[in-house]
Amino acid sequence: MSSYDVIVVGGGPGGCTTATYLALKGHKVLLIEKEVFPRFKIGESLLPFSMEVMKETGFYDVLSSGKYIQKNGAYFFDSVTNDNIYFDFANGGKAEFPHAYEVIRSEFDKDLLEYAQKKGVEVRQPEEFVNAEFSDTGVMVKTNKGIYHSKYIVDGSGRASIVTSPFQKKVKNPFYINNFAVFAHFEGVDRSYLKSEGDICVGILKNKAWSWTIPFKGNTTSVGIVSTQEFVVEMQQSEEFFDQRVADNPFFHQIMKNAKRTSPFMIQSNFSYANEKFVGNRWGTVGDAMSFLDPVFSSGVHVSLMSAKYLSTNIDFALRNGEIGLDDPANVHNYEELMKMGVGRFHNLLQIFYEGDFINKIRNIEGKEHSMGAMIAAVSGGMWRDSNSLMRFGIL
Ligand SMILES: Cc1cc2nc3c(=O)[nH]c(=O)nc-3n(C[C@H](O)[C@H](O)[C@H](O)COP(=O)(O)OP(=O)(O)OC[C@H]3O[C@@H](n4cnc5c(N)ncnc54)[C@H](O)[C@@H]3O)c2cc1C
Repeated sequence: MSSYDVIVVGGGPGGCTTATYLALKGHKVLLIEKEVFPRFKIGESLLPFSMEVMKETGFYDVLSSGKYIQKNGAYFFDSVTNDNIYFDFANGGKAEFPHAYEVIRSEFDKDLLEYAQKKGVEVRQPEEFVNAEFSDTGVMVKTNKGIYHSKYIVDGSGRASIVTSPFQKKVKNPFYINNFAVFAHFEGVDRSYLKSEGDICVGILKNKAWSWTIPFKGNTTSVGIVSTQEFVVEMQQSEEFFDQRVADNPFFHQIMKNAKRTSPFMIQSNFSYANEKFVGNRWGTVGDAMSFLDPVFSSGVHVSLMSAKYLSTNIDFALRNGEIGLDDPANVHNYEELMKMGVGRFHNLLQIFYEGDFINKIRNIEGKEHSMGAMIAAVSGGMWRDSNSLMRFGIL
C-alpha cells in the first residue's frame, strides 16, 4: 500500500492549491480527482487578493500569460433606480493587488491541476474517494481503485464535502437559504459600456434578483441570474425565466440585445452553507467543502485559495513538528477562527448588499477617501487584512 504525507481529495482550486503549496514545501502529496478534466464548473470571476496566493505558488505566471482576460474592476448597475457605481481595483487601499482575471473554469482548473503535477503532486484521475478511516497516526483512504495511507487528509471535494460529511452536519445559511441561479455562456454580449473589457458587471434587478456578466478572452461571456425561490423554476422553465428577467430590465436587455447562447442553461440552488467544523486532528477542509456564501462578490474561489494557504501552513508545521494535530493550539494558525473571520466579513458585505439600496450606501462613503479605499479592498477580497479600517471598526 502506498503511503503519503497528505492526501487531498478534489482537484478544484482549493484542493489543487493546497496540494501545490505542500509539494513546494517538499511533502509527498497525492491528489484524487473523480472527473476527467476539462469539465464545466461555475465560479469564473476571480478576485485581486487571490493574486497573492497565485504569486506564492507561482501559478500567476500561467494566469498572466495572456490566455485569460484581465479584470480591473467591478461595475454595479441598479435597474430599478438607473444608478451605477464602479469599483476600480487600483483604488483599493494600498492597491496591493490592482487586478484579477476572468477564467473559463474548464481551462483554469485543468491548468491548475497540471501545474500542481509539475510541482510534484501525484495526481490520480479519474479516481473516486469512497471513505476514510481515522486513527491516531493517520488516515486509511479507500477509493474506487485502491487503498492508501496518509498522515493527514484534506477535503477539497467541493459542495459534496465527501470526506467529512459522514461525521458532521452542514448548516444552511438562513440569510439567503432560498437563492438559486440560472446561467449560461453567450456570444455577442455588449461590452462597449465597460471601463475595461474584462470587468465583471453585476446588475441589481427587479423582484429581488441580480445578474452577473463575466467577459472571457474572445467573444464569450458568462451570464447568470440569481433569484429567491419565491420565483422557483424547473429546468424546462429556465429559458423563459431568464428571458423574462432580461426583458424586465432595460439596461440588461440592451446589453443582451445581440447575444446568442452557446451553452445549455444550468441551474444551481440553495448554495449558502457552512460545515460545523473546518478542521480536526488529522483532517482539514478547504473551499466549498468548508463553507460557501452567495456569489454576488465572487468570493468562492478566493475563499478556496485562502483556505488552501492557511491550511497548508498548518499541515507543513504539523509534519515538521512531531505530527501534531491540525487543530492543535500549538499549530501556526487557529485555522477555524481565521477562516470564520474572513468568511464572516464577506457575509457582512453580503448583508449590506441584500438589505437593499446598495449603490446609495456606497455613495455615502464614496466622498470619504479612506473608507472608499477600504471598501474597494474588501470587494477585492482583502478580508484577511486587519489594516482595513472597515474591518477594524467592525463594519465588515
Ligand atoms: C451560481 C454560482 C456562481 C458562482 N460564481 C463565482 C464567481 O464568479 N467567482 C468565484 O470565485 N466563485 C464563484 N462561485 C463559487 C465557486 O464555484 C466555488 O466556490 C469554487 O469552485 C470552489 O472551489 P473548490 O476547489 O472548493 O471546489 P470545486 O471547484 O467544486 O472542486 C471540487 C472537486 O472535487 C471533486 N470531487 C468531488 N467528489 C469527489 C470524490 N468523491 N472523489 C474525488 N474527487 C471528488 C470534484 O469533481 C471537483 O473537481 C459561484 C458558485 C455558484 C453556485
